Amino acid sequence: MIYDLIIIGGGPAGITAGIYAARQKINTLLITKDFGGQVSRKAVTIDNYPGFKEILGPELIKKFVEHLKPKDIKIKTAQVGKVEKEEENFLVFTTKKEKFLSKTVIMASGADPRPLEVPGEKEFIGKGVSYCSICDGPIFADKTVAVIGGGNAGFESAIFLANYVKKIYVLEYMPKVAADEINQKVIKKSGKAEIITNVAVKEIKGQTFVDSIIYEDRKTKKKKTLPVGGVFVEIGSQPATSFIKGLVDFNEKDEIKVEFETCQTKTPGLFAAGDLNVGRYKQIITACGEGAKAALAAYGYIQKNK
Ligand SMILES: Cc1cc2nc3c(=O)[nH]c(=O)nc-3n(C[C@H](O)[C@H](O)[C@H](O)COP(=O)(O)OP(=O)(O)OC[C@H]3O[C@@H](n4cnc5c(N)ncnc54)[C@H](O)[C@@H]3O)c2cc1C
Repeated sequence: MIYDLIIIGGGPAGITAGIYAARQKINTLLITKDFGGQVSRKAVTIDNYPGFKEILGPELIKKFVEHLKPKDIKIKTAQVGKVEKEEENFLVFTTKKEKFLSKTVIMASGADPRPLEVPGEKEFIGKGVSYCSICDGPIFADKTVAVIGGGNAGFESAIFLANYVKKIYVLEYMPKVAADEINQKVIKKSGKAEIITNVAVKEIKGQTFVDSIIYEDRKTKKKKTLPVGGVFVEIGSQPATSFIKGLVDFNEKDEIKVEFETCQTKTPGLFAAGDLNVGRYKQIITACGEGAKAALAAYGYIQKNK
């Protein structure tokens, strides 16, 4: 069977594309690893999505999914491993080697947390190293932890963790943190955080669980050890685009180049919406907007090529 549209990703862009595709009555399959994407990792309330003055990330996603699920589209929980072109159609493979055929594809796989890439990081994932304070924070109750990254994501993570942990080191590579003033004020008020700048993390150490971080003070060039029971990495994200080489053009950040009007990539019928494309302002509302745009453009493409 050939689908009209396959959507890859269940974050704001993919969910919105699904709602729009159902409205256009096209035969659609949405494949996603999970629902929510980065919004599920948002540690403090969201206050910039219209209609909700303040809402928690998981709560907003629950509402999105409740909106999508009754619609007439198929949903599959799986990870896409590859997308290929086969004559006029696209072949979408999951990592379990299942294969689906479609006339159009919207890639909405967003972005993954950027790893630190230091020794010990990979080994201690799930044993003290985390990329999601909202998911894992409560496990670290009464411990001393480090948040790596002094941008808004790092500070928001620290603000959330302050509800549980004994002490938080916020470690920033640059001489100054980049977080908004308001986030800096809130974390100061918690009385639990110590901010250290000019930090180059060199290693995460431990036995069965993380017990320390080794870093270099970039000013003095001295190596230091910080005893911590957990490490939260908050140094930004990278587009989840590795499964789509060949059919699209990338910029230097591995973001997919698209036409502004339609979110179409260089391959006709292949669209990219949300955080994985070159759009500069990566927000829930912009991801939703692009998901809508891409679904309508996919519908237009199908009609034109009937
Ligand atoms: C800590 C943090 C705080 C933020 N705070 C805000 C805020 O307050 N307000 C705001 O507007 N925005 C905020 N953002 C940004 C916002 O979360 C993103 O812009 C938005 O989630 C992008 O949506 P998306 O659908 O493009 O991608 P994502 O949210 O990344 O969703 C991608 C989806 O694709 C799935 N996926 C990935 N790879 C595959 C694959 N190979 N196969 C199948 N499925 C796959 C994932 O499981 C996920 O469901 C924040 C982001 C972070 C990290």
